[in-house]
Amino acid sequence: ALTVQQTARPHGFPTTGDFAFVESPLPEPAPGSALVENLYWSVDPYHREMMDDVPGGFTLGAPLEGRTLGRVVASRTPRLREGEIVFHRRGWRTHSVVAPEESRPLPRFDGVPLTAHLSVLGGTGLTAYVGLTRIARLREGDDLFVSAAAGGVGTATGRFARLLGAGRLVGSAGSAAKAGYLTREVGYDAVFDHHAGPAAELLAQVAPDGFDVFVDNVGGEQLAAAVGALREFGRIVRVGTISQYNTPDAPPPRFDHADIVEKSIRMEGFLVSNYRDVQEELEAFAVPHLQSGRLALDETVVDGFEHIVDAFLGMLRGENLGKIIVRDISQ
Ligand code: NDP
Repeated sequence: ALTVQQTARPHGFPTTGDFAFVESPLPEPAPGSALVENLYWSVDPYHREMMDDVPGGFTLGAPLEGRTLGRVVASRTPRLREGEIVFHRRGWRTHSVVAPEESRPLPRFDGVPLTAHLSVLGGTGLTAYVGLTRIARLREGDDLFVSAAAGGVGTATGRFARLLGAGRLVGSAGSAAKAGYLTREVGYDAVFDHHAGPAAELLAQVAPDGFDVFVDNVGGEQLAAAVGALREFGRIVRVGTISQYNTPDAPPPRFDHADIVEKSIRMEGFLVSNYRDVQEELEAFAVPHLQSGRLALDETVVDGFEHIVDAFLGMLRGENLGKIIVRDISQ
C-alpha cells in the first residue's frame, strides 16, 4: 500500500518536496472495521490550509486525510459489505481501514457517475447549494457574481444558480479559455480573467449595473471590488479565501465598511461541515437534473494515484476546470 505524507511546512506556495510517498504493508482491518481499496480521491484547497501548523492540521510524517471513494475489499463488520462502494475521509492513500461510523455507503442513482459523489453531489456541490439556498437565500431573478467561477464550487454554483432561477450570472476565472467555457457551457453571461487588470475595473465591465449576490471563493482584491459593486440589500457568501492561502505575508483585503452599512449588505461565512443535514435535499434537487441531462458535470480527472500531489499543486495554480478528482487506474 502507498500513502502520502507531509514532510515539511511550506511558507507560501507548497512544492512536491513538501510531500513523500511511503510504501507500507497492506493494512489489516481490526474487528469492527473494513479494508477499502480507494478508487477516487478529492484534493481540495482546504488541504493547503491543513499543511500549516494550525489546530486540526496535518501531522508531519503521518498519512494525510482527504475525501475519497473506495471499494470494501475485506470486512470485519456486518455494517460494511465486501464489494460495496463507500465514501470516507481517510484519503491520500491507496488503501484505508475505516469503521462504519467513518464511512458512508454511496446511494446508487441510475445514470449518475461515481465521480459525481465527489463533485456536485459531494462536499463541493453541497458547498455551492448551501451557499445559494441557506446563506444567499437566493430569490428568483437575483443577479450573481461568483469568483473562482471555473473551479469545483464555482461551476456547481453557476449551474445550480441557473436551475434555481437566478438572473444575470457573471464570474471571474484565471484564463480566457476558462471564461469561454463558462459562458459557452455553464450558463454564465459574462466572465473576466482576473489576471487581466484591477478587479474593480474588470468587474465594472462585466456587471456595470451591479449584482445582488456575491459568492466569494477567493477573497482579497475581488472581495473589495465586489463590496463596491453590490446593490442595496446585497449578500456576500464567504466561501473561501484561496487568494490568501499561499501568500501569508500579503495584507488582508481593504474595503469601505461604510458600503456595508449604507447598502445594508449582509456578509456571512460558513463551513459546509455544519450543513451535512442538507445532503439529502441536495441529492433530491440535483439527481433528477443529472438524470435528465439539465445538469452536467464539470470535472478534471487526473489518472493515477502517483499524480495526486501534482494534481493538488496544479489545482492551487488553477490548472483544473471544475472539480479536480484523482482516479485509480491500477485495476
Ligand atoms: P477550485 O476547484 O475552485 O480550485 C481552486 C481555484 O482557485 C483554482 O482553479 C484557481 O482558478 C483559483 N485560484 C487559485 N489561486 C487564486 C488566486 N490567488 N486568486 C484567484 N483565484 C485563485 O477549488 P474548490 O472549488 O474546491 O474551492 C473553491 C473555494 O471554496 C476555496 O477557497 C475553498 O477553500 C473554498 N471552500 C470552502 C468550503 C467551506 O466549507 N466554506 C468548502 C469547499 C471549498 P483560476 O484559474 O480561476 O484562478
